[in-house]
Amino acid sequence: MSSAVADLERVVKEIAEEMRQRTDRGEPASYIPELANVDTGSFGLVVIDNDGTVAAGGDADMPFSIQSISKVFTLTLALGKAGDRLWKHVGREPSGSAFNSIVQLEYEHGIPRNPFINAGAIAVTDRILSGHQPKEALGEILRFVQFLADDSSIAIDRTVAESERRTGFRNIALANYMKSFGVIENPVDYTLGVYFHHCSIVMNCRQLAMAGRYLAHSGRNPATGHRVVTPERARRINAVMLTCGHYDGSGEFAYRVGLPGKSGVGGGILAIAPGKASIAVWSPGLDAYGNSHLGRIALELLTKRLGWSIFGA
Ligand code: GLN
Repeated sequence: MSSAVADLERVVKEIAEEMRQRTDRGEPASYIPELANVDTGSFGLVVIDNDGTVAAGGDADMPFSIQSISKVFTLTLALGKAGDRLWKHVGREPSGSAFNSIVQLEYEHGIPRNPFINAGAIAVTDRILSGHQPKEALGEILRFVQFLADDSSIAIDRTVAESERRTGFRNIALANYMKSFGVIENPVDYTLGVYFHHCSIVMNCRQLAMAGRYLAHSGRNPATGHRVVTPERARRINAVMLTCGHYDGSGEFAYRVGLPGKSGVGGGILAIAPGKASIAVWSPGLDAYGNSHLGRIALELLTKRLGWSIFGA
């Protein structure tokens, strides 16, 4: 075993142990009833480096709801279908407001600021849906995630999707509001149905880190040899993750962690160290911005100890 691999494995185990012992764990997402009861005691971390070495710590195999992390995969899929025309329907500037905020939409004529806030992700989902039945679009998204992770066992938790549909009043408002500007093309119920379901995809840290490898390696998953996107597109998706992946906590995440990353209210974060590694972390307790509290702290420690921040060691 090379000393770099030994270091990586040691650092991952150390961080998992440090996180297990912490008492400040954040609060689970209470606005989705199915997620409100998740135990905040869990913590998992997986790093896959460029040689394919998998360093795992804590609850690396425990499945969780990926929620908004799915927005990275739907953005990739929608760019593949629509190319740069996608940017007519959604911007790529940080919003500086909460993930479910509606305020900017009125000023900006129903065009969401970026593909990672809820409004933007709903608009992207609508693009994927156009020309298809909701079932087909959802099947396509799920198969794409399975392909990225090279794992056909990945599935959707329909109870979580149903729970969100019943209580998703904000998202319903956002979608209807965008529909009034003609930004949403399909029936709002259909677009939201696909959106709630792709947010309810269940993965563990191992699968998620594997699915993110194309972003760490110029658009190609080195494990399967599959080219997913061009190097330019991978670079650009990473840029949007860096600037928008943590909503109004994106500046703080860049400041502390220094990597492109995307969080979800299930407590997961996918972070990319370009050219070096794909990283998945999960701890269900959230901070005030709806990002994993210990997940962010763990990534900060990891990039510091390994010198992996894109801004310098
Ligand atoms: N499905 C969630 C929602 O729409 C996703 C939000 C998130 O993970 N930040 O509210």
